[in-house]
Amino acid sequence: MRTLPSAFAAYRWAPSTDELARRVGVDPIDIVRFDGNVPAWPAASARPANVAAALARVNEYAHGGYPELIRAIADYAGVEPENIVLGAGADDLILLSARAFAGPGDRVAIAEEPTYPLYAIAAGLAGAEVGSDDPVVTFCCRPNNPTGALGPLPDARPLVVDEAYWEYAGDTAAGLIDEGVVVLRTFSKAFGLAGARIGYVLADAQTAAELNRRQAPLAVSTTSAALALAGLADPPDVTEQVDERDRMTRALNALGLDPLPSRTNFLFVPLDDPEEVGEALLRRGLVVRVFPDGIRFNVRDREDDDLLLEGLAQAVDRPAPVAPAGTRSTRALRATAETRIRVRLSLDGASRVRIATGAGLYDHLFEQLAFHAGFDLVLEAVGDLETGPHHTVEDTALALGEALDRALGDRRGIARYGDGVVPMDDALARASIDLGGRAWADVRLECEPGLAQHALQSLAQAGRLALHVESSGRDEHHVAEAAFKAVGRALRVAVHAEGAGIPSTKGVL
Ligand code: PMP
Repeated sequence: MRTLPSAFAAYRWAPSTDELARRVGVDPIDIVRFDGNVPAWPAASARPANVAAALARVNEYAHGGYPELIRAIADYAGVEPENIVLGAGADDLILLSARAFAGPGDRVAIAEEPTYPLYAIAAGLAGAEVGSDDPVVTFCCRPNNPTGALGPLPDARPLVVDEAYWEYAGDTAAGLIDEGVVVLRTFSKAFGLAGARIGYVLADAQTAAELNRRQAPLAVSTTSAALALAGLADPPDVTEQVDERDRMTRALNALGLDPLPSRTNFLFVPLDDPEEVGEALLRRGLVVRVFPDGIRFNVRDREDDDLLLEGLAQAVDRPAPVAPAGTRSTRALRATAETRIRVRLSLDGASRVRIATGAGLYDHLFEQLAFHAGFDLVLEAVGDLETGPHHTVEDTALALGEALDRALGDRRGIARYGDGVVPMDDALARASIDLGGRAWADVRLECEPGLAQHALQSLAQAGRLALHVESSGRDEHHVAEAAFKAVGRALRVAVHAEGAGIPSTKGVL
């Protein structure tokens, strides 16, 4: 094997979620990763229906490549198909660019440090050295990882600009591809497809052709190409992530911390003791990226980011700028071919509820249930709503029931029984619950919008609770809503932590 330059240091991945969980003694589901600079949740388009056709032909090669995807990328990027090169993520394209431009004896310049380490690795693998003296090519990360800064575009040519985070910054060098600039982009960040490993180059037609000649044949899988194509049909809107980043910046400032100005989905916070802070966060299941002079973390969403703020406040010995997360909490991810559901549930919450399943009325009903139970609940679902709400509603109820079961743990010390009566205009509902651990559902609704009874039965089944509900009235919406509220009221009483004992004369549940 050809020897690598003495300064060569291979890329080092962060440990797996399972390993981190073992290290700090928590369930892997309770590890929250802020260290990958990726969105917290895949795009809605990343679901089985959109890869079904690719799977049905997964025995075959994509003869002739991916012209439809290349056309869609060209339209998205405002270039022509002959300007595109596909690769297995931007990493693959960094390696391709380095080996295409540089070889043994050459120098590769890296515009700024610290930056993404793969440019130096790619130069080393090509047999070249890193240096600014008469380089054959210059790499520039814009906006830069790990700082988040959108620096000026270097004048050097040829220039490879890594725009992995460009969607967050809205600034691109794509207009310069006819002037010696090669742009690298990825579906890993704003598009939420990091696991699919797919990215693309924008370059002038001749450079793109030369890169394609040096690229592996079909470097991208058919399933990844299908996911990218589905993503491009509805490109991501990063406004929420950018707003959340700005909220985090303000909250960190309030903690006396000084994150660097960022044009990405992540923040770099300079610290004197980053190792210690990183370890303290990890003990709470929160994973950030530790650097010698600070920590870097991507934003997720308000609820997860508040956990990080709470952890950081404790690490720097300041009062938390957010209400503490409830105890008896759990996280769950339930994925089937039909639906993907993410639940974050805290039994001792403050009725902070956010539900988005796309199943309209049922979001409202589950929201009522969680609110009146006093839970903190975030429940998001992506499902095959084109077949109707049935799968989504059923799986939502099952996911919530499973989360409830997990959050209750061994059920020691809880009140166990609870009931609730809720009048709502013409409707009157009564619900009684036993959290003893045996599933039973007797749900009688005088009229209903379609899936309310089934949802409550599914909740009882997955949550291992005995549930008796009776709701009468004339308006089906009121009858269902009163029933869900009554179940919430009953749950509030039944989950109440009263002591440490087993709530049964048998001594077991
Ligand atoms: N470039 C930069 C600047 C990055 O931060 C990353 C990922 N961390 C990559 C490229 C790699 O992206 P991909 O997943 O497309 O290989």
